Amino acid sequence: MTKRIVILGGGTGGTLTANRLRRELSTHDATITVVDQDDHHIYQPGLLFVPFGLTAPADIVKLRHQQLHHGIDFVEQPIERVDIDAQVVHLGDGRQLPYDLLVIASGAVLAPEETEGLVFGDTVHTFYDLAGSTALAEKLATFSGGRLVVNVVDMPIKCPVAPLEFCFLADWYFTERGIRDRVELIFATPLDAAFTKPVAAERLAHLLAEKGVAMVTEFNTGEVDGAGGKLVAYDGREQPFDLAVVVPMHAGAAYVGRSPGLGDELNFVPTDPHTLQSTVRPNIFVIGDATTVPASKAGSVTHFEGEVLVENILRFLADRPLDASYDGHANCFIETGFGKALLIDFNYDTEPLPGHYPSRIGMPLLKESRMNHLGKLMFQWFYWHTLLPARHVPGIESPMPHGGKELPADEIHQEAHV
Ligand SMILES: Cc1cc2nc3c(=O)[nH]c(=O)nc-3n(C[C@H](O)[C@H](O)[C@H](O)COP(=O)(O)OP(=O)(O)OC[C@H]3O[C@@H](n4cnc5c(N)ncnc54)[C@H](O)[C@@H]3O)c2cc1C
Repeated sequence: MTKRIVILGGGTGGTLTANRLRRELSTHDATITVVDQDDHHIYQPGLLFVPFGLTAPADIVKLRHQQLHHGIDFVEQPIERVDIDAQVVHLGDGRQLPYDLLVIASGAVLAPEETEGLVFGDTVHTFYDLAGSTALAEKLATFSGGRLVVNVVDMPIKCPVAPLEFCFLADWYFTERGIRDRVELIFATPLDAAFTKPVAAERLAHLLAEKGVAMVTEFNTGEVDGAGGKLVAYDGREQPFDLAVVVPMHAGAAYVGRSPGLGDELNFVPTDPHTLQSTVRPNIFVIGDATTVPASKAGSVTHFEGEVLVENILRFLADRPLDASYDGHANCFIETGFGKALLIDFNYDTEPLPGHYPSRIGMPLLKESRMNHLGKLMFQWFYWHTLLPARHVPGIESPMPHGGKELPADEIHQEAHV
């Protein structure tokens, strides 16, 4: 019998999953329907470049339905809720979509309303959505000096290195404009370091210091006082600002909270970290930012998850045991300004280490280089033409490659004795 596969969200994860599944399953095997609330697919890594005039907003948006292969139905409607017992998705216009298998790919949303006083306006901005990064571009163009605080309110956030990249690019941007000496740059983070993993954290902290960006750690923002020009932490510490660039709290999509039994308290969907099957129902799979897996909320993670997710959907439909091989693989170019970038590559067990990716000959890891900057720029082409259409690229696989990494001395010792 033809199975009904419904995919909620037509962003990175929903699109690549639909395209990969359509290649594997005939229209007799399954119908594939993707639901999204709008028809504008944003290349989100490009949001970082918009405030600095390096990318125009229109250059990072394409029509969503055009990224889906022939034979995939696209429904442009807000998702109202899911009835996981009746196996039905309820849409905003009252329509119902019954499913045999559901894929949750509805990402993460910004939740500024969770922080007292966090309202975007003249002195408080964000670059985490298209409206925000466009408004910030206008603000930065006329910013003539003062205290600029980049603040992450709470984790998890999408692309945890993007706020650091913003600091590095701000250093470059104000240098180019000849006013760097008039701008004080501060990075205020809730973490106790620049990043969650120690080796990369040390390297990134060093870069911040080199570029004259002051770092304030364990700053848990409780209130944003736009009129008074200060961030107030729960422990009473204050950060005065002339301009605040704030990354608000993130949550899962609101419909998850309206769907009994589907999500956790933040509206993320409990997910097995290795199979990507939800733990709420066997016929619900999850990909990308919507999951609870302990990997970064990143497009690269979504891409690497896609390979295992689709294999497991095929196995589930054929009543075969699932493949528990997703290892948390993530990688990310970190733009450091002045035409350079770093690359990090890691998984659940191995933190970002120096070396090369994907093997001993390849892109340098944890080291600033022009090659990595070109890689970051080329990634946009790769995203639209290879990642979303789910084309196979030899050497770029879901399991994290170990070959090019420089392991710490104690791990080399352990490996030699295995
Ligand atoms: C500033 C910034 C920089 C980034 N830089 C990088 C980077 O350099 N490298 C990297 O790997 N990743 C980066 N990311 C992260 C990356 O973009 C995301 O992790 C990735 O897009 C996640 O894919 P997804 O499919 O889970 O979610 P999304 O691509 O966000 O898709 C979710 C979809 O669900 C839809 N949806 C949600 N709720 C509903 C509803 N109720 N009804 C209908 N539709 C709904 C949305 O409209 C959206 O289209 C960055 C993100 C940001 C914000």
